[in-house]
Amino acid sequence: MPNTRTATFSVRLKPETRKRLAKLAKSSGRSSNFLISDAVESYVADQEKMLADMRQAEREFKAGHYIRHEDMKAWLLSWGTDHEIPPPRCVCGKSHDNEQSKQ
Ligand SMILES: [Zn+2]
Repeated sequence: MPNTRTATFSVRLKPETRKRLAKLAKSSGRSSNFLISDAVESYVADQEKMLADMRQAEREFKAGHYIRHEDMKAWLLSWGTDHEIPPPRCVCGKSHDNEQSKQ
């Protein structure tokens, strides 16, 4: 009986990648199928998170909540010096330190 919870998907791999995958499968005791499926799931989740974060950042920027490049640069350049300055604040003037991530 076919597995109805997964679907077969064909993908082309570079010969070197295929060799590395086979070697990894052998040394880890996992099947190549498991490793590919795990890698795709991880990659898709990472890409979804990155896109969601980018959309959130764009919404915050459009709403007037961002830190000026020169303020961030000045702060970072002060790290490790005798005159480290406080972290830059949002241009709106509020501190967003205690806010939960708005996702
Ligand atoms: Zn703000």
